[in-house]
Amino acid sequence: MEENKHYQVLLYYYYTDIKDPEALAAEHLEFCKGLDLKGRILIAHEGINGTVSGTVESTETYMEAMQNDPLFEGIVFKVDPHDGHAFKKMHCRSRPELVTLRLEDDHNARELTGEHLEPKAFYEAMQDENTVVLDTRNDYEYDIGHFRGAIRPDIKKFRDLPEWVQENRHLIEGKRILTYCTGGIRCEKFTGWLIKEGFEDVAQLHGGIVTYGKDPDVQGELWDGQCYVFDERLSVPINRKEHVVVGVDYFDGTPCERYVNCANPECNKQILCSEENEHKYMRGCTHECRVTPRNIYVKEHGLTEADIKEKLRVIEETDKVTQ
Ligand SMILES: [Zn+2]
Repeated sequence: MEENKHYQVLLYYYYTDIKDPEALAAEHLEFCKGLDLKGRILIAHEGINGTVSGTVESTETYMEAMQNDPLFEGIVFKVDPHDGHAFKKMHCRSRPELVTLRLEDDHNARELTGEHLEPKAFYEAMQDENTVVLDTRNDYEYDIGHFRGAIRPDIKKFRDLPEWVQENRHLIEGKRILTYCTGGIRCEKFTGWLIKEGFEDVAQLHGGIVTYGKDPDVQGELWDGQCYVFDERLSVPINRKEHVVVGVDYFDGTPCERYVNCANPECNKQILCSEENEHKYMRGCTHECRVTPRNIYVKEHGLTEADIKEKLRVIEETDKVTQ
């Protein structure tokens, strides 16, 4: 189906004053639905943060409408071609914050934020020996791809990052700190917090990793692996000069860039795993997740009790270390 090729995925944010986020979210949802867009949009008093997919025609209409709205004047969209929708539904919700940090003493990201570096400047700054590169994303995002040598905060949620930094100040103190995230919005807020914490030389990758990967000069250089994204694509390529795999299979430690969710719906943990190991382990991250009656893999593949028993036997036979 030729038609299916002409879709786009948009990623964007914009800090602005929104008087009534709830009303705007309801109105904006109808607007998006009218264009048959799918995705997730958050609206807060501090602005908008969204990612949506749709046909080229409807996404272009959307971007034009936003750019012509005085409220969003100057909004920048990152645009990726795709072969269909990248989301199943359209959500547009109002939230207290665009990115959840829950700072006790919150600040306005338009008034306090780190220096913005364009991809070329960021690329050069990364190679300066007096800099540290700090990934502001979650551990599972880092694990499938990151800037070479970047610090990996051991966090599952963005709001845990301030505490992590306070406990690991020695890793970044006295250096020029370069931060990056997927599209730039987390750094807009987080670099302001770093400055408030007393770190003086703080800069952020403007437009995030996605923009870096599109820059014609740097071509994604110094990026290893893939970039995790929050839609059905799961990850996108960044480095157009070389591809170094950094992800490792959860089960056997071999190079891997394929994320799946644990088949136990109550666990749902995201793990990197090959197709072969998915079948071997019934997509379960632990023995408990494999044998739960709710295991989706078992249902999907119509496994009988005997099939499950046989798979468990093979696992036991081949694995010396229990998972
Ligand atoms: Zn699990």
